[in-house]
Amino acid sequence: MNADLHCHSTFSDGLLSPAEVVCRAHANGVDLLALTDHDEVGGIDEAQAAAAELGLGFVAGVEISVSFADETVHIVGLGIDHRHPELVAGLRRVRAGRDARAARIGEALAGVGIAGALEGARRFAGNPALVSRAHFARFLVSRGLMPDVKTVFDHYLVRGKPGFVEHEWARLEEAVGWIRAAGGIAVLAHPARYRVSAADMARLFDRFQAAGGEAVEVVSGAHTAEEAARFAGEARRRGLLASRASDFHGEKESAVDLGRCNRLPPDLTPVWSRLL
Ligand code: AMP
Ligand code: MN
Ligand code: MN
Ligand code: MN
Repeated sequence: MNADLHCHSTFSDGLLSPAEVVCRAHANGVDLLALTDHDEVGGIDEAQAAAAELGLGFVAGVEISVSFADETVHIVGLGIDHRHPELVAGLRRVRAGRDARAARIGEALAGVGIAGALEGARRFAGNPALVSRAHFARFLVSRGLMPDVKTVFDHYLVRGKPGFVEHEWARLEEAVGWIRAAGGIAVLAHPARYRVSAADMARLFDRFQAAGGEAVEVVSGAHTAEEAARFAGEARRRGLLASRASDFHGEKESAVDLGRCNRLPPDLTPVWSRLL
């Protein structure tokens, strides 16, 4: 089973439309795909229709932004009813927060001499309700200020850099609650990316599981092989289901293409055992 259960379209910060994501996944040999745009489910219908046409297995998903211990943590929801009112209302609130944050990022960049960044980022956003730091990064690259998106993040958009602003996302329990209310499975996304102490990482897993979270991304495009092994151990110890995901955003911006992740360790229970 080639499952890829986390990727992005132009409804958030991906570079391909939902239908293009589905076609690329199909061409790459994916059997089961989840589209998981940041804080947004607007692309699900288009992706679902494209997948049905190709006979590709499809799971409705989302990736919700959460604040935890001074870090932003991402909770993926899989197998959601993307029209569920509680989920829809929660996501709408998170997106509204993004608008205010984007304005503050624009002001912060203006403060270091980069004018017009909010308008510039908006031009790169396929969805006006979803401006991401990735859109600011693409704007700065287009201005020739930095060679690539990764370098923009390192110099401007991560904590401690001039374009970074603090922001309060959803609470962990809210995000897991919305996903469960919508009939979905909550997955802790790319845990190795969180810069938290070992104690906070343990607390993150504890609170995630106490809230009803059931799975962890063991294999992720954002993980090294060593990191995957570490979180495979965490999945075993904690009895969590395991997910496998490229977190694909686009050809030039992602290290791992759709469906091209490593396999899960065979002793883990794949999250897709609950999605088929
Ligand atoms: P936001 O949700 O607006 O804070 O943007 C987060 C997104 O920015 C992530 O989902 C990635 O797509 C991208 N991103 C975050 N950190 C980096 C990085 N260091 N290099 C490249 N892209 C990044
Ligand atoms: Mn992203
Ligand atoms: Mn993420
Ligand atoms: Mn993602």
